[in-house]
Parts: sequence; C-alpha cells; structure tokens
Amino acid sequence: MQELKFRTDITFEYGVPSPMSPGVVRLVAPNAGPFTFKGTNTYLVGSTALAVIDPGPDDEVHREAILRTAGARPITHILSTHAHRDHVDGIAKLKAATGAIVCAYPRDPEASRIALKDSPSGSYFVDYDLTPDIALAPGDRVEGGDFALTAIYTPGHAPDHLCFALEDRDLVFSGDHVMAWNTTVVAPPEGHMGDYVRSLEILLDRTDAAFLPGHGGRIFEPQRTIKAYLLHRRWREQAILHAIVRGQNTIRRIVPDVYQGIATHLIPAATLSVQAHVEHLIEKGRVACDLPLTQDRALACV
Ligand SMILES: [Zn+2]
Repeated sequence: MQELKFRTDITFEYGVPSPMSPGVVRLVAPNAGPFTFKGTNTYLVGSTALAVIDPGPDDEVHREAILRTAGARPITHILSTHAHRDHVDGIAKLKAATGAIVCAYPRDPEASRIALKDSPSGSYFVDYDLTPDIALAPGDRVEGGDFALTAIYTPGHAPDHLCFALEDRDLVFSGDHVMAWNTTVVAPPEGHMGDYVRSLEILLDRTDAAFLPGHGGRIFEPQRTIKAYLLHRRWREQAILHAIVRGQNTIRRIVPDVYQGIATHLIPAATLSVQAHVEHLIEKGRVACDLPLTQDRALACV
C-alpha cells in the first residue's frame, strides 16, 4: 500500500505567537503526545477584538500565553472545533477570565455518551458536558471586531466537528479533520468513516488557499492534501476487501494482513480504523455481516 507523505516541519516556540496571516496568530499548547503531535494549536483571530479558536488543554502557562498575546484587545468569542479534551479543557477558565461567548456545535448528550474505553487515545477524551453559549448550526456566522467566521459542519473524526472559514482570507481552520502531520483518527464509536469521507468532499469543493489545522503546521495546498487523504482511504478499503476475499474475513484477522509488521501497542488503534472502514463498506453494501459488528464476526464481500 502506498503511504502518505507527511509534513512534520513546524517552526514555533511554546508560549510565543507565530503569525499565520494578517490578524491570525498561532500558539502551540505544551501538550505534545502521540495523538497531539507538538501540542494543540490555539488560534487568535482578529486585530481589534479577538476570537480564540480551540483554547487547548487546561494549562495555566498556555492560558497566560493566550492572555498575554491578546494584550489590551478583548477576547469576545471562544470557538471550538470539537469537544475532545485536548481542544476544550481550557475553555472554562479562559471564559471566566474574559467573559467571552463560547460557540460550538452542540453534542447530543444522550446519543454521544458512549463508553470509549477502547479509544486509541485512552479513556474518556470527550467533554460531554461542554455547553456552548451559542449552539452553532452548519453555515452559521460568528462576527466580532473585524473578523467573520463561518461554521462548516464536518463530522467524521468527531460527531460535532466544525471547521471555520475566515471570511475574505481564503483560510479555513480545519481542526482535526484535515492535518498535515498525520492522518486523522477515525475510530468508532466517536468516529464515522462515511461521515468523514463526505466531510472531506465538502472541503474539496472549496477553493481555499490554506488550512490551519488543530495540530501541526499550515497546509498550503489543501485540495491536494484532501485528495491524498481520500486516495489513502480508498487504498486501505481495497486492501481490506482483498483480505476478505483471501479468507482473512474478520476484523481481527484483517488487521495484521493490512498493517504488515504492526507494533503490538498500535494494534488497538489499527483495529478501530479497520472497523471504521468495515462499517463504511457495510453501509455501502460492499460487505455483508451479521450485526452487531464485532472483531470476530465473519465478513463477506458482496
Ligand atoms: Zn486534537
């Protein structure tokens, strides 16, 4: 299988704002890790009053860097791309310090409160209790000082994921939906491959000049990156179908077949990724299986 080439170069210093575009700076939070790369990116948008996109973890030093960067300019809005803890745990204290209005896509607490102990990023990484002051719907605009941001609904990595398009700048804040340093984790039940692919196609139809992701550096050729992502997913899907045809007909057996030589500690994440693909193939009518889907259910190509 052909692998994606990742861009892992990012120049920054923790606590020091990096200019991204006129009226846009980035601060990288000090929460580096296998799922967060160098840390969560927090963006400050505007030049008079500011919007903060993804305050990041609840970290005093990071919060001070945000407030220091804002200086005398008021932070009027806090926007969240999705309620994963590495993006939203810092919201409550930043809101308390600034009085900013919190804007996010509202989660359905009943539907989304699912046990995620098998999640590749560990135990509960979703903040089910994040209650935005303004519940954004797809296409909603958030206006402040001299900025206007439009919410693009992009579920897939998370059911509440939003990207934000910055008006008059050809720029999209792409959250964890599209990143350059690695492929996005799509792990059920939080992640959904069918939604994810549809959400990639939504961004493919746009003509933005750059994406600013939730982790890692700026993406300068976003359409190329999205196409590479889609191609990569299609290859993996083909590899899974071939494995089933050759008799590796359960998720447990597909994983070592598709991810040759995989390290033991990566098997749980790879298993969820294969499960996401199999769910998508079942939805598309390409694979048949008795439900509910488990790791050892027999799969058949249709
Ligand atoms: Zn993240």
